[in-house]
Amino acid sequence: MTDRIMYIDESRFKHEVLDAERVVVDFYSTECPPCEALGSKFESLSTLYGGDVKFVKIFRQENRALAEKLDVTSSPTLLFYRNGERTGDTLSGGIRRADIVRNLNGLLNERRVTEIESAVKKVNTDVDVVIMGGGPAGLTAGIYAAQALHRTMVIDTRLPGGWVSTSHQVSNYPGFSEPVQGFMLSHHMFAQAKAAGVEFRPAVDVTDMSLEEKRIVIDGIETVRAKKIIVATGSSPKQLGVKGERDYKGKGISYCATCDAKYYEGKHVVVIGGGNSAIEESLFITRFAEKLTVIHQFAELQANRMLQERAEANKKISFIFEHEPREFKRNGTGVDEVVIEDLRTGKRRSISCDGVFIFAGMRPNLDLFEGMFELDEFGYVVTDDHMRTSIPDVFVAGDLRSKSFRQITTAVADGTIAAITAGRELERTAAA
Ligand SMILES: Cc1cc2nc3c(=O)[nH]c(=O)nc-3n(C[C@H](O)[C@H](O)[C@H](O)COP(=O)(O)OP(=O)(O)OC[C@H]3O[C@@H](n4cnc5c(N)ncnc54)[C@H](O)[C@@H]3O)c2cc1C
Repeated sequence: MTDRIMYIDESRFKHEVLDAERVVVDFYSTECPPCEALGSKFESLSTLYGGDVKFVKIFRQENRALAEKLDVTSSPTLLFYRNGERTGDTLSGGIRRADIVRNLNGLLNERRVTEIESAVKKVNTDVDVVIMGGGPAGLTAGIYAAQALHRTMVIDTRLPGGWVSTSHQVSNYPGFSEPVQGFMLSHHMFAQAKAAGVEFRPAVDVTDMSLEEKRIVIDGIETVRAKKIIVATGSSPKQLGVKGERDYKGKGISYCATCDAKYYEGKHVVVIGGGNSAIEESLFITRFAEKLTVIHQFAELQANRMLQERAEANKKISFIFEHEPREFKRNGTGVDEVVIEDLRTGKRRSISCDGVFIFAGMRPNLDLFEGMFELDEFGYVVTDDHMRTSIPDVFVAGDLRSKSFRQITTAVADGTIAAITAGRELERTAAA
């Protein structure tokens, strides 16, 4: 830790923060992976900006009254102050360097910002294996590559964990006789990768990249060169493209039950979809919602039999089959009307509700790699059985890959195969 960072408790808040000219405050906790992810960014920025801005850390667990007074409800949370007034954004969760820099620059004048920007030192890092994406596929690849003593780095544009970390529970991953909470499963995978020696670059921006040159630039500062690259960037929820969806995304339309179900205590929620994820997440949402209506395009659910039985036995859940949404409308503060169409008759009608969750499948996260890989008819990356792609030394693993089943077990299998294959190739090259 640099001497530019000051640790204080609430008794010194007025003097060190409110009475100072320019301050950034980090409310942190222990045993908090996002706090760890922020740590190195906060430290390196304190060496750049520390002459102009005071860098302060407050341990949230021991300063709860102050945190509550400031509306700080999670760790880490960054607050920015100018002459005793809160300014800029409140940043929390997986905080990006670019967002901190933007807020720090907002505290300074243009000339000083230019001077600081010109003082930024670029860094070069050479590793054996770089893994883009820290979901189950990427973390498993990391465990195997690092345990084989290859210098391994996982780069993630968010916090590592992938979809598992936001699934409320997982009941089909071997090794757990009772369903395991998704965030605990991803936490164990992350901890195992870290213990194996994997280096992490969490919540970063990939600002430049060449798969041919095996070069990735992070946050415009660190250039990582690798001998092998494993791309495991997974997939994201598919949007339906229905009228109103884009406008109300995050304002009554959600794609993540773990994140948003809590806002629907005692309310009526509509779920679009009928596969495993839709039904698993519907069961979770009914912990909060009073009523839940599943709208599904087919005549029966696509979810597995066990989930179907649990959903059918749940008194809060009702089903409307062979219907599709045509429009989401908002009359009050949230989405409160879904126009649905009967696929047999073409007749439309409206359903009133307090919010909508959409679980209509996924699409591969390939934005960074446009035109680089050979894709199948559904847009997923074609690999051979060893996860090799058409680009030499570049592998693809997990949900991003063209395959029949996308599950945690299949993602970890892909990660295993990619890492072992990459490792053997590295060893052969070293021995040659
Ligand atoms: C709601 C839901 C519930 C599910 N429940 C289950 C279940 O109960 N059991 C089961 O087996 N499967 C379940 N699945 C499927 C399972 O989660 C996926 O098959 C699995 O997570 C795929 O792992 P992955 O590593 O390929 O991708 P992901 O889990 O999607 O991880 C990809 C990672 O890559 C990162 N990333 C994205 N873009 C970039 C980039 N450009 N650069 C760097 N990093 C990037 C992301 O931040 C993320 O951390 C569920 C999926 C969903 C959506």
